[in-house]
Amino acid sequence: MTAAPDRYAVFGQPIAHSKSPRIHGLFAEQTAQAISYTGQEVAPEQFADAVHAFFADGGKGLNCTVPLKELAWQLADRKTPRAELSRAVNTLALEKDGSILGENTDGIGLVADLTRNHEIDLVGSRILVIGAGGASRGIIGPLLEQSPESLVIVNRTVFRARQIADEFRRLGPVSSCGFEDLRGQHYDLIINATSTSLSNQLPPLPDGLLTDTGSCYDLAYGNAPTTFVLWGREQHARYSLDGLGMLVEQAAEAFYLWRGVRPETRPVIDLLDAERKNSAG
Ligand code: NAP
Repeated sequence: MTAAPDRYAVFGQPIAHSKSPRIHGLFAEQTAQAISYTGQEVAPEQFADAVHAFFADGGKGLNCTVPLKELAWQLADRKTPRAELSRAVNTLALEKDGSILGENTDGIGLVADLTRNHEIDLVGSRILVIGAGGASRGIIGPLLEQSPESLVIVNRTVFRARQIADEFRRLGPVSSCGFEDLRGQHYDLIINATSTSLSNQLPPLPDGLLTDTGSCYDLAYGNAPTTFVLWGREQHARYSLDGLGMLVEQAAEAFYLWRGVRPETRPVIDLLDAERKNSAG
């Protein structure tokens, strides 16, 4: 009799749209790992009970998405240093002693997509991060590890950007500002970590922010180009990318943490990209 596959899942609310079951299914097939991975709708107030029930029932690992990442940070018995700093956890793993480890793979996923998949060199670069929510907190540390010349966080509510800059300053040259301070500034990379694309809006950005070879990256993604991706194209960005690559890369980091096997991400990104282009008509 063959053993039942190890069980993994993503918890979130809503969850029906999540591509994580598909991505992990493709990773499992590619690496011949016997796992099952499902999506489960979990409300914040059910989160702690649902996590403990999942692990008590033999589950091995979880991803947590909106709006559960901060709760996952609170729940984890132990956190990696990058998860600790980001105050958000997107990956939970059951340890041998029964304790729950919390990790945040969003930032390393973004850096992998930028540097490996698109060969964007962040060393010595000037980076602008728009937004000071959970996603922004998750990416600042891994971006600073790439030794940029400077990293500026701009946010509608300026004090939230200042708070993050203060927390991460010991890791590198990070500062904060408001949108009105951007005019006349130039950046090699502009990252949209706000939720504006989800409602087809744009942050209030002046024209001319990008250097000649500068690129744009929207953490959001959809079947059609996001409003920020379209803005980047209008600004003649070298690359104007959305967050599909980051999504697959952060999943690969979680898969590696759980299974000790690193899946190839390129074929999975290409497949999902082709599928969404087909569905967008
Ligand atoms: P969040 O915690 O709700 O933060 C929202 C941010 O957007 C805040 O900084 C907020 O500013 C700003 N904002 C909202 N509406 C705005 C507007 N009209 N103009 C200017 N700023 C506005 O959201 P989050 O969890 O950080 O997620 C942000 C985005 O990242 C989402 O699109 C999410 O899907 C994406 N994401 C993608 C991945 C991936 O793997 N690709 C992973 C994680 C997240 P205030 O502080 O002023 O309210």
